Amino acid sequence: MDYQLISDRLNQGCDRPSYTLRCTHCGTTYAADPFRLHCEVSHSPALLRAVYPNPRLEIKPHLPGIFRYVDWLPVDQALMTTGKPITYASQGLAAHLGLDHLYISFNGYWPERHAQMLTGSFKELEADAVLARIPADHRRTLVIASAGNTGRAFAHRCAAFNRPLCLVVPAQSLDAIWLPQELEAAFKSTVRLIAVEGDYSDAIALAQIISQMEGYFPEGGVANVARRDGMGLTVLDAAVTIGRIPDHYIQAVGSGSGGIAAWEAAIRLRADGQFGSHTMKLHLAQNLPFTPLVNAWKAASPVLLPLEENTARQQIQQVSAQVLTNRHPAYSLTGGVYDALWDTQGEMYAIRNREATSARWLFEQLEGIDISAAAGVATAALIRAVTAGAVNPQDCILLNITSGGLQRLQREQSVCLPTPDWVIQPDELSPDQVARIWHSLTK
Ligand SMILES: *Cc1c(COP(=O)(O)O)cnc(C)c1O
Ligand SMILES: [Zn+2]
Repeated sequence: MDYQLISDRLNQGCDRPSYTLRCTHCGTTYAADPFRLHCEVSHSPALLRAVYPNPRLEIKPHLPGIFRYVDWLPVDQALMTTGKPITYASQGLAAHLGLDHLYISFNGYWPERHAQMLTGSFKELEADAVLARIPADHRRTLVIASAGNTGRAFAHRCAAFNRPLCLVVPAQSLDAIWLPQELEAAFKSTVRLIAVEGDYSDAIALAQIISQMEGYFPEGGVANVARRDGMGLTVLDAAVTIGRIPDHYIQAVGSGSGGIAAWEAAIRLRADGQFGSHTMKLHLAQNLPFTPLVNAWKAASPVLLPLEENTARQQIQQVSAQVLTNRHPAYSLTGGVYDALWDTQGEMYAIRNREATSARWLFEQLEGIDISAAAGVATAALIRAVTAGAVNPQDCILLNITSGGLQRLQREQSVCLPTPDWVIQPDELSPDQVARIWHSLTK
């Protein structure tokens, strides 16, 4: 496979910047800047949103993977990728549920349908877009904390594109960081893998400290417009494939970034006009018993409800879709999940493990590919929405299978499991101590 960079500047010979950034709270506009994450005006937390010079989506079919949608990505280079979301009309599940227009956005590995995300989840959309936003010759090292799919996606892509990465994961999640054998050597030379003997929050804390050090920079999570516009491509691909904006969008959420991204993509499509002018309603789901977003929305609260640290930990242990257990989701900030649900008259669903498991099995039987636990939660939410009459049988519905085909991929591909460069105890986490450890390790 050829992973090299295909073009440095897509806009060569063209002075037009590829995007500007606009604050969703105060409207301040900023010039394109690959590292800007926040508004400088002091006000309550708010997301910046990318504004693209071309309000009409023009597809560039000659560019690889997601970069066919480069018009609406905050990047000025394309990377050699194969992964993109694929959209298809469901037959089996649609008939079973009595739906006329059920579409699946499949993110993962399914060669017969040309789904080639080799890291197996829609986090790969994020990774490719985020990396393409960073200038190719940038010297500082990107820092990411992850407990799973995000870490694997960035590890794989940074190794493939030869971009320096410092990846911090909880030790118990190390088995999520597998990658194809052929990338093992590239991984060793470009990625620093640090395991923390603690949970995801400990990994975030350490990543935060490292990202402030000289020579490093943070990715930014939901605040990074490339991350969101990468994830929003599921909706662009669906609208382009179907010919219209879906009436309903269904996704399982943890941080909520994907839900926000889908909403923003639908807003852009509506302004474009080629795909209709209707609102796309969000249906977002979480896995019981850890459902902070559902609880806040059902209580009509614009902020998350208070939750005891210990209760949260206990709840998280019982959740089968661990990727949905983000303790600090992007709910109350301007332009976040609350605003997205409010604007689309959205719905939230709390799904039991048992429901998710049977939905997962049903999907595999009816559609013919394995899906991950989180996608099972989304499928269960669709079933609930149909049963409750929250969607009509004639509506155009988009179900986001955020991760699928992993079992298939692991059968067909030989993978390696890199060992961490360092294992760190959470009690070593004071900035001083980390700096000392870091200094001794990088010598
Ligand atoms: C991260 C993840 C989600 C939830 O994504 P949000 O960031 O909350 O939108 C859902 N499914 C899978 C497979 C994931 O990896
Ligand atoms: Zn602002």
